[in-house]
Amino acid sequence: MDLFEYQGKQYFARFGIAVSPGGVADTVDEAVAQAERAGYPVVVKAQVQVGGRGKAGGVKLAADADEVRLHAGNILGLDIKGHVVRRLWVEHASDIAEEYYASFTLDRSAKQHLGMLSAKGGVEIEQVAATDPDAIARIHVDPVDGLSRERALEWVDAANLNPKAREGAADILTKLYRCYVDGDADLVEINPLILTPEGKVHALDAKVTLDDNAAFRHPEWDEFRGFEVLDPRDAMARERGLQYVGLDGTVGIIANGAGLAMSTVDVVSQVGGSPANFLDVGGGANADVMAAALDVINHDEKVKAILINIFGGITRGEEVANGIVQALGRVRLNSPIVIRLDGTNAEEGRAILAPHLSDQLISRPTMLDAARTAVELAGRR
Ligand code: GDP
Ligand code: MN
Repeated sequence: MDLFEYQGKQYFARFGIAVSPGGVADTVDEAVAQAERAGYPVVVKAQVQVGGRGKAGGVKLAADADEVRLHAGNILGLDIKGHVVRRLWVEHASDIAEEYYASFTLDRSAKQHLGMLSAKGGVEIEQVAATDPDAIARIHVDPVDGLSRERALEWVDAANLNPKAREGAADILTKLYRCYVDGDADLVEINPLILTPEGKVHALDAKVTLDDNAAFRHPEWDEFRGFEVLDPRDAMARERGLQYVGLDGTVGIIANGAGLAMSTVDVVSQVGGSPANFLDVGGGANADVMAAALDVINHDEKVKAILINIFGGITRGEEVANGIVQALGRVRLNSPIVIRLDGTNAEEGRAILAPHLSDQLISRPTMLDAARTAVELAGRR
């Protein structure tokens, strides 16, 4: 789950990371009220989950209520890289002496956490990585050892931060590490992490991605969900408990098992098609699950053909076939279905499907044949 900046800052604050006082606003009047509370000057910031808001005009300083009105009015409704601004964060403006970059994420290949710190903050880190890779100080942190204060200080020195920022930065970095690990995040990023003229180190932006697999032990995350930006298809799939990822293509995909679903996405691409989604129905592909899966895909207007790819293991072919036949009775489909059924009891399954086959329900013996047929049908419509 990706957090908005304001949520990320609330999250940081719980771990003792210094952020500016502020509040959210969904209207111009609310923005003024929040500005009065935070104290002028303030900064008015678009809450969208995309970087580069500053450059796009989504971050503006305001010295008084009139300026807040002006900027809030301009930023609400603004389209930033396809994200329309519905909410603002208004915080007390900081004086900036220097802007840094700091983050933690998992380096899977190293099996360790990766921290990145740079004295060149405020700009996109990809740009720094491309033009001046030496300006990023990287450290690997063994999850068993954690990040000590000594190590954090060495890291700050390696990144050549201003000596005035040394203690404050090391302090924030150790807290950021705790926030990342204890808070079950996949990514925490502060850009910019600032040094103020008074020598304080402070988070001016927050990018946090929480690990959904840990949601069961974080009931407090529920508060972050209300304003989540979910693709309507994703929302529908989540309600039905399906593993679903929406994509941009025209071939809807249903498979059992994440591995098979990913392979199916690949094969559809390989034969020249474009997948509309990734949908894993898991082990129990019964009628309810099939109906739910078909229903979700059916609601995607871009879908022109549906490819069902099932390899029976514990899931038996006849169960899947029965599920599909029953689901067809419940869901009025807008697109033809191509099915490839193999594995445990596939013969029985195909026999159940046989009387229902038509130009709207086509059976193919292999994954490749099925993908070709589905892509061809999608292209024709
Ligand atoms: P992003 O562009 O989406 O990453 O948004 P940021 O929150 O990082 O803000 C972009 C830039 O706006 C920062 O790099 C700062 O230069 C500037 N900015 C943000 N907040 C303040 C503030 O409180 N005071 C000042 N002077 N500048 C700010
Ligand atoms: Mn930023």
